[in-house]
Amino acid sequence: MSKLHIGCHLSNSKGYLAMGREALELDADTFAFFTRNPRGGKAKDIDPKDVDDFLTLCREHSFAPLVAHAPYTLNPCAAKENLRDFARETMIDDIRRLELTPNNYYNFHPGSHVGQGADVGIDLIADLLNSVLYPRQTTTVLLETMAGKGSEVGRSFEEIRAVIDKVSLKEKLGVCLDTCHISDAGYDVINDLDGVLAEFDRIIGLDRLKAIHLNDSLNPPAAHKDRHAKIGEGHIGIEALARVINHPKLKDLPFILETPNEHEGYKKEIALLREERAKAGI
Ligand code: FE
Ligand code: FE
Ligand code: ZN
Repeated sequence: MSKLHIGCHLSNSKGYLAMGREALELDADTFAFFTRNPRGGKAKDIDPKDVDDFLTLCREHSFAPLVAHAPYTLNPCAAKENLRDFARETMIDDIRRLELTPNNYYNFHPGSHVGQGADVGIDLIADLLNSVLYPRQTTTVLLETMAGKGSEVGRSFEEIRAVIDKVSLKEKLGVCLDTCHISDAGYDVINDLDGVLAEFDRIIGLDRLKAIHLNDSLNPPAAHKDRHAKIGEGHIGIEALARVINHPKLKDLPFILETPNEHEGYKKEIALLREERAKAGI
């Protein structure tokens, strides 16, 4: 039996060890967290003892890679230069901090081109990545697939690929696939997961896929809305989401729940999905 690597989004207000312990209470072996206040601003200083204790806990319980999330207000392809500078400085600082917990993932929203057009957006995102990534970092930076709300870049596999093509340190880049977002973007996760993955492979390459945000969607396919639902309570449904976690090409990735839940709700969803893995007998 292959172990399902699953966790959820946790608050980092009490530090790393507290998140690690909460993950264990949830029967999780990975988690996501905002690297700083999700609305941006200065990050708290990291306590080296907290990091050390956390790294020990990770080793003892063989955690899968963590999937840190950049503040969602960062806009790497903003029209205003000062906003792009802010996104760049924040990402540089976040990666520096993540290097204290090596070999994990740092996921970000590619941004909104705010009327400049997707091509300009793609160039700006790639420029930013080219000034942020450096050869010795152990953190892999993940572009998140987006729902295509407003002027979001990353609404299609082609747009993600176009960014990657323009980045020099490609080996530091990966993709985080969000099931709610791609369903909202019009990919048929519900009826044709094999087809969606074949397309991902053809356009981006499945070797770039490093993590999954496992969310149901409040909206029907192609709605371009981005409203997450609890597992089994949205338009994607438990059967399709079970196919995602158990797919031979996805089953070993870390799955992160970003569903509207508190501790107990997450605990139930993790148990439910572990059951779906056990039922599949893989
Ligand atoms: Fe996200
Ligand atoms: Fe997400
Ligand atoms: Zn979302």
